[in-house]
Amino acid sequence: MSENQKQIDKPTVAEPPEGVSGQGFFATSFEKAVGLARKNSLWPLPFATSCCGIEFMATMGAHYDLARFGSERLSFSPRQSDLLMVMGTVAKKMGPVLREVYIQMAEPKWVIAVGACASSGGIFDTYSVMQGIDRVIPVDVYVPGCPPRPEQIIDGLMKIQELAGNESLRRRHSQEYEDLMKKYNIE
Ligand code: SF4
Repeated sequence: MSENQKQIDKPTVAEPPEGVSGQGFFATSFEKAVGLARKNSLWPLPFATSCCGIEFMATMGAHYDLARFGSERLSFSPRQSDLLMVMGTVAKKMGPVLREVYIQMAEPKWVIAVGACASSGGIFDTYSVMQGIDRVIPVDVYVPGCPPRPEQIIDGLMKIQELAGNESLRRRHSQEYEDLMKKYNIE
């Protein structure tokens, strides 16, 4: 078997969090164990409205393979997803729809704005296009590009993994988070 084939066949194993290990045991904090599970099982909801969505299709294909990150299970129901990926030009008319989708997602949830349009309206500085989805929902990671390549989308997902893996279990109950939600008029 060639070295390359051995590399491909090697199972992907998640890195363990910081902890104490000895013969036959490994101990870590509850927060880190939860973070490990969350970061390696993000379920994306693809909210794709135009061309950036096509790049996402490539990201899901065998070559880039989002399954390597535990994120192959796409959800088209907000209640069974924790990562909202907004890809494409978002018209102002779609704003309330996007907001509703976000509100219906259960906590903890994260958001990626994929590409220039979702991040800032892109080249469409017109009366009908929303100049960035952060006008209606909070965004955790912005992926630049028009369109971004699949590598960039994967980089964005890995940034979310970093946030999810290191997030304090108390964050969603903090004053700071409540204030953020209030800013968007979300109860
Ligand atoms: S950023 Fe570019 S590729 Fe992506 S939706 Fe906008 S125009 Fe299309």
